[in-house]
Amino acid sequence: VRIAALVKQIPAFEEMTLGADRRLVRAGIDLELNAYCRRAVSKAVEVAADAGGTVVVLTLGPPAAEEVLREAVAWGRDRGVDIRGVLVTDPAFAGSDTLATARAMAAALEHEGPFDLVLTGRNSVDADTGQVPPEVAELLDLPFAGGVRHMEVDGDHVHLRCERDDGWVDCTVQLPALLSCAERLCEPSKVDPDGRAAVPAARIRRLAAADLGPGPWGQAGSPTWVGDTRVHEVARARERRPDLPLSDQVRAAVETLSGRGALTDTRRAGEPPVPATVAGAAPLVAVACEPDRDRHARELLGAAATLASELGGSAAAVVAAPPADVDRLASYGADHVVEVEGAQVEEDVARAVTDWIATLPEPPWAVLTGSTMWGREVASRIAARLDAGLTGDAVSLDVGEDGRLVAWKPAFGGQLFAAITATSAVQLATVRAGMLPTRPPRTATATRERVRVTPRGRVVVTGASRDDDLDILADADVVIGVGRGVHPDEYPALEALRQLLGAELAATRKVTDEGWMPRARQVGITGRSIAPRLFVSIGASGKFNHTVGVRGAETVLAINPDPSAPIWEHADVGIVGDWHEVLPLLVDELRTARAEGG
Ligand SMILES: Cc1cc2nc3c(=O)[nH]c(=O)nc-3n(C[C@H](O)[C@H](O)[C@H](O)COP(=O)(O)OP(=O)(O)OC[C@H]3O[C@@H](n4cnc5c(N)ncnc54)[C@H](O)[C@@H]3O)c2cc1C
Repeated sequence: VRIAALVKQIPAFEEMTLGADRRLVRAGIDLELNAYCRRAVSKAVEVAADAGGTVVVLTLGPPAAEEVLREAVAWGRDRGVDIRGVLVTDPAFAGSDTLATARAMAAALEHEGPFDLVLTGRNSVDADTGQVPPEVAELLDLPFAGGVRHMEVDGDHVHLRCERDDGWVDCTVQLPALLSCAERLCEPSKVDPDGRAAVPAARIRRLAAADLGPGPWGQAGSPTWVGDTRVHEVARARERRPDLPLSDQVRAAVETLSGRGALTDTRRAGEPPVPATVAGAAPLVAVACEPDRDRHARELLGAAATLASELGGSAAAVVAAPPADVDRLASYGADHVVEVEGAQVEEDVARAVTDWIATLPEPPWAVLTGSTMWGREVASRIAARLDAGLTGDAVSLDVGEDGRLVAWKPAFGGQLFAAITATSAVQLATVRAGMLPTRPPRTATATRERVRVTPRGRVVVTGASRDDDLDILADADVVIGVGRGVHPDEYPALEALRQLLGAELAATRKVTDEGWMPRARQVGITGRSIAPRLFVSIGASGKFNHTVGVRGAETVLAINPDPSAPIWEHADVGIVGDWHEVLPLLVDELRTARAEGG
């Protein structure tokens, strides 16, 4: 087997701080191999060792990115595998967005290939778009499966179990294929500096832009543009009184919470209803609707209708799993409903959308979808097919002064927000669940159209299940975040607090790793980001990789007996104590506060 692993070097951004100019200071920050990419390298080496194959590890980056290749090569050599590295580096690649990066990586794979299997990380934890892998797959006309948790190569096929946002997909994929690796697929590849330094220079070669063809590369080949950036500063009050008896600590905490308004439901009230739009009018804002995500379709169509009404245009819903409930979609904002017949997996949906776009008198102004794994593949494939700019995981959408789409995207775990615009005719964005308002439905009708696509049949889904619902945490006003300090047998003891606060449960990675809660509940850098009114952390140490996911919370209350736990840096109010003792006191105190109208 000839295996390629695509990897990315990223800043160790938990070390990042704000400079005097209110920008993130990047100078002097350590660079490291992206956590997910470590799995791609490790799995590539494992498969090659088992099957007697070869591995080529490729990265695009500055000369310093050679270090991550050296680490990957050292890992493979230690395991007796024929492995080498390819650094794609040239000043011409500067300013590459995901599509330009994907083009360079696709060209490098063609230059170094052919390959039977291309492995990547699921996403990079700094930019978190997850777009490059499916874009490369589209450019090389390869099948793609994302979030691989189990893999078994079987002749010219590979059997996979893939982690989805809130569930699982089992599938068989025809080789050659491109697969993105989940965090828990295997042990991460890690080698110390001495091991890296021992890699012979000949094991790593460089490719320049000229080796890969005429381009355009870098900024010139990038259909997206990064505009304004905003730093999301979070200043936590860090109030706690470990010197006081527990009952006094709890009373003081509840008083503070009450004073901050953290105990009063302030959920978005009175969103304006979905605006009227003019059926058939251009420009058109289209939404690719993922099967079985009604709430997401509603958010996206409400946004599409809002953008369309500002532009004097109309909105369309493209439904991947017909039959569509046309009246319902019309009430959410659609003027036109396109039913795709024949699509089995994401690559079929993407092709149906681009085929449909080709039939329109003018291309849509924008195509929106959710930033789920489904949406990321569909949108990435459309972007690669249309050479269009795609913003991943946007949290808000506006019409800019120039009449273009402005999609705000978080980066570095939500420490920074950037306004991204596309220079292409069609502007694409995937949007995070729960970030757009669900507007009261309107009374409207929509026209219906059917399009047919012939499925490629390269990815055959043999089973799919959901173990949770992505919308639960997106919707929750109060969240109790549980760490390893609470054993699952004791979760029933959290119920009184949960009921009283109307809270949903979230978890740290250690909890989801143990299988104590579904992965969709994991909050943090490799989980999700949430922005509830109140976050109650119980039995979690509060490591950066976890707390970065609750930067958007209005108020954080933490309960932990360890006076030096990192959680105190990230909490507004702290109760230093064992949760078994704290919880009954807290429930009583909250009941009293509520009875008194607090
Ligand atoms: C690349 C990478 C990505 C990561 N991504 C994530 C991520 O997305 N999300 C995430 O959560 N983590 C992530 N992590 C892991 C993270 O760094 C921490 O290891 C993890 O969050 C710790 O989980 P924990 O707080 O449950 O467990 P621990 O760190 O083991 O902490 C348990 C805490 O429980 C407290 N405790 C014990 N008994 C009690 C009691 N009776 N009452 C109250 N408190 C008690 C202890 O004092 C301790 O502070 C990532 C790590 C890496 C390297």
